Amino acid sequence: LSGKLNGVFDRLRRRGALSESDVAEASREVRIALLEADVALPVVKDIVAKVRERAVGQEVLRSVSPAQQVIKIVNDCLVEALGGGPREDGAAEHVPGLSLNAPSPVPILMIGLQGSGKTTTSGKIALRLRTRERKKVLLASLDVHRPAAQLQLETLAKQAGVASLPIIQGQSPLEIAQRAMQVARGELYDVVILDTAGRLSIDEALMEEVAQVKAATRPHESLLVVDAMTGQDAVQTARAFNERVGITGIVMTRIDGDARGGAALSMRAVTGAPIKLLGAGEKLEALEDFHPDRIAGRILGMGDIVSLVERAAETIDKAEAEKLAAKMQKGQFDLEDYAKQLQQIGKMGSLSGILNMLPGLGKLKGQIDESKLDNSILKRQAAIIGSMTPKERRNPDILKASRKKRIAAGSGTSVQDVNKLLKQFDDMSAMMKRMSKLGQKGMMRGGLG
Ligand code: GDP
Ligand code: MG
Repeated sequence: LSGKLNGVFDRLRRRGALSESDVAEASREVRIALLEADVALPVVKDIVAKVRERAVGQEVLRSVSPAQQVIKIVNDCLVEALGGGPREDGAAEHVPGLSLNAPSPVPILMIGLQGSGKTTTSGKIALRLRTRERKKVLLASLDVHRPAAQLQLETLAKQAGVASLPIIQGQSPLEIAQRAMQVARGELYDVVILDTAGRLSIDEALMEEVAQVKAATRPHESLLVVDAMTGQDAVQTARAFNERVGITGIVMTRIDGDARGGAALSMRAVTGAPIKLLGAGEKLEALEDFHPDRIAGRILGMGDIVSLVERAAETIDKAEAEKLAAKMQKGQFDLEDYAKQLQQIGKMGSLSGILNMLPGLGKLKGQIDESKLDNSILKRQAAIIGSMTPKERRNPDILKASRKKRIAAGSGTSVQDVNKLLKQFDDMSAMMKRMSKLGQKGMMRGGLG
């Protein structure tokens, strides 16, 4: 224990402002991390410049290391670049989802390269609109280039429980689109999803076709569908579609794969259009709202440790954290400290939430009974500790049957509750030791330790 933790606490004790060299070193690592995550080079340059500007001279927080602090700055820049605006409480906010605020039938145009997931996403959106918003949805395939494409959409429509435009052979994409709008008006559909054809790469014929359909149907949303695995090409694709056709939002698919998601950052930067939805699998249910903070964490490649550090930096009282750290180091962590820790956890959300964010802690989760970790339990535990004498808080070992009974009565709980608390206190001390180690390892992996 001591060796590794000492490093952490040495850094905890650093004072002053972030130095040029702290920041320069961190910037190099950030640059590499972003490039590895497939963020396009010009976008990487912008982000790194913004990070430097913001970081240099910033006062060092006492409870986190300079490296951690820079990571938080990087994270903030990424979240902003991904479209998360500041909220009153300082946390990032992003309003996900589609805009349907228009007279019915609302046309939604799906565009993108072949194989990016347009047809699948059309089915996913249809299912979501039907089930969550009770919309009457019509799906129409404008893909006349691939023979099976229209049938593919028809099958998906059946699965999603929505209608699809009857197929008439020999019509052009523009004719199909116009017919779809006509049918939708006549049969009072709320939403028409127009699924266009794609090409393997951007070409003028494709752009012209999509632009014509757009002009004729005036879609309320024009969604660019892009595969998350698209690396540096994402910029060209997004720019071309945006300039030639104009897009209102981006759907990034295949985030269930191992892509780091840098394409999201590139596309957002180049088009200014928000990322609205994520495709996370082949099934129709696999559609997720976009959360900039999650993708930022993924791009940085540090799991959600970033957001843990972030929340810790925001909520944990600095002086308190130092005291606690010193006590842990000396093995003097007691129930008094545990009570304080409970308060911190209350501020940070649930403990199980924290465990969920940390990769590799699955095993630990099994050891701690998660159902016992909601906030009402935290409050009850605080009451139990409140009923103890200072001596008991410092030496939980002296808590035998008669004392436990008294404490249970005093806090309006049972001896069983007191026992559970003591068990959890043990688990908690063990977990904090592991978290410190893990946090340190995470930082070292990122090269920022
Ligand atoms: P389109 O050519 O743009 O219409 O692309 P499709 O919708 O036909 O999708 C191409 C392939 O990608 C299909 O096999 C889909 O099942 C698959 N696909 C689409 N979205 C996702 C996703 O989010 N995750 C995964 N793993 N596969 C996807
Ligand atoms: Mg298709």
